[in-house]
Amino acid sequence: MSELLDGKAIAKVLKEEIKSEVQEWKDQGVEPKLAVILVGEDPASVVYAKSKQKVSENLGIGFELYTLPADSLEKDVLTLIEQLNTNEKIHGIMIELPLPKHISKENVMAAVRPDKDVDGVHPINRGYILSGEEGLFPATPQSCIEILLRSGVEIAGKHVVIVGRGETVGKPLVFLILKHNATVTICHSKTPDLGAFTRQADIVIAAVGRAKLITGDMVKSGAIVVDAGINETPDGICGDVDFEAVKEKASLISPVPGGVGSLTTALIMRNILKGIILQRRNG
Ligand code: NAP
Repeated sequence: MSELLDGKAIAKVLKEEIKSEVQEWKDQGVEPKLAVILVGEDPASVVYAKSKQKVSENLGIGFELYTLPADSLEKDVLTLIEQLNTNEKIHGIMIELPLPKHISKENVMAAVRPDKDVDGVHPINRGYILSGEEGLFPATPQSCIEILLRSGVEIAGKHVVIVGRGETVGKPLVFLILKHNATVTICHSKTPDLGAFTRQADIVIAAVGRAKLITGDMVKSGAIVVDAGINETPDGICGDVDFEAVKEKASLISPVPGGVGSLTTALIMRNILKGIILQRRNG
């Protein structure tokens, strides 16, 4: 039987740390503030934007929502981003996805000043992940690492098998976890006999988007299992790991919900604070 990697409990601690760091900035006359851009009225995006507002406000971080109509031109979005890039009172910029089809996601993401790119999607930040330089990195791969470290897991020297090489989770995670001196194997949809790889792992991290793909026979006894997957099923939200079966073999396992996903918003907020430091350095 395994113990839980408890994302909710870790998020609580993380939020307290962020709150006190926010206060330290305020004491120095800096009011950390996030700007979110919403183009159109995609219902899920509206919900996500509101949830970011709630979390920001709870942590003492200022929040501004910029809504543009769905028929806005790409240049209107780019003009708004430029205004926010040069606005010294804004420290983080996020664009809710999906954007309307006539607007290029790549152009929009590349327009955000890298040191305000709290989603960590700017090509320069992607490059910094590879080079090991300081930058702003995506929240979900950071959550996978944070949940391990804050549960007392030593990553250095461990064999980590990452299942999934997606742009949001798997791929950035490879380089972030390499920095912690793990030995990394990356599996994907073309990997024959996935279980032959996952069974060798000290730590399995699933970032696929296939409900219960990782079954009990695919992990070795005592392994640590981190589930970044979020899948909607008729029985509710579940991860990429067959939790009930895998928990019988793993020593530590993250649940879905209540695991990796619980940390992501807090880590976006932490990126705002890191952004302030980078912005001061970059001038
Ligand atoms: P993605 O871009 O769709 O990538 C999925 C990856 O899984 C791909 O590399 C794909 O391989 C691989 N894959 C698909 N089927 C597979 C199989 N049967 N065996 C092995 N690998 C397989 O997804 P993503 O955006 O990285 O997201 C991954 C998961 O994380 C999703 O469930 C998503 O909902 C979740 N997520 C969670 C959070 C959070 O806050 N917790 C945030 C973002 C995303 P190929 O490259 O060969 O196609």
